[in-house]
Amino acid sequence: MIDFKKHPCFNKEAKGQYARVHLPVAPKCNISCNYCNRKFDCVNESRPGVTSNILSPEQSIIYLTALQKKMPQLSVVGIAGPGDPFANPEETMETLRQVRSNFPEMILCVSSNGLNIAPYINELATLKVSHVTITINSLDPKILEKVYRWVRYEKKGYFGLAGAELLLRKQLEAITKLKSAGITVKANAIVIPGINDTHLGALAKGLSELGVDLMNTIPLIPVEETPFSDLTEPGSAHMKEIRKEIGAFLPPMTHCSRCRADAAGLLGKDSTEAMELLTEAAKV
Ligand code: SF4
Ligand code: SF4
Repeated sequence: MIDFKKHPCFNKEAKGQYARVHLPVAPKCNISCNYCNRKFDCVNESRPGVTSNILSPEQSIIYLTALQKKMPQLSVVGIAGPGDPFANPEETMETLRQVRSNFPEMILCVSSNGLNIAPYINELATLKVSHVTITINSLDPKILEKVYRWVRYEKKGYFGLAGAELLLRKQLEAITKLKSAGITVKANAIVIPGINDTHLGALAKGLSELGVDLMNTIPLIPVEETPFSDLTEPGSAHMKEIRKEIGAFLPPMTHCSRCRADAAGLLGKDSTEAMELLTEAAKV
């Protein structure tokens, strides 16, 4: 029996008690966000850090088996990059299949930009993937065209407004389909001063109408060698205001720890022992 209350990211009460692990099986990405430097992990659910080890689905099972022995309170297995899970759908789906069959009690979670998740939603529901995060930064393509350099879909590149419109359409389709499949959906939005920060209330309103369950606003980290490197990171007062604004429409997530694509442990307390096990598994 999967106990969904044990998800530390979605249930505050579970935060200090249950651990989650991200399996870094998805190195490629299908979009280019202006806040992303691919030398770092995906900011979908990450803070900048050193490049992760990449695991194959088989190595993931070896890693999880070793990790569970050290971390019996492990309740959630997520896939969040370091690229996008559905820019690497074979690796992502095979990993989820193998985890579900070897660890039937685990809560499964994925985090994506939403561009290419739709074809996989039926199987995600069959595999009892219960929690999905979609990073969506606005409902206005004119804002979104400032956020993305390119979008690659079905082997074709899209730029400017065309890329922004395509990505948004696919994200909205994905959210609708995920909700029809009974999956809990969290929206992530990166707060980018001067770009989308005055539109996040409207975004929360639109997402609540689509049935999104909660929203996590993540302050931009201006990363070197990106088009947004000169922007200023929004301060805590600004973030508080934004969370209040979105809180009128959706429960804001207040205890997110911006986890790396290879995070493991209690939220905010990543385990160094897990990193060693991950490195070992990557050598097998
Ligand atoms: Fe899922 Fe995000 Fe929590 Fe990872 S950090 S387990 S992807 S909600
Ligand atoms: Fe980077 Fe993630 Fe954006 Fe892809 S979706 S470009 S990995 S931040």
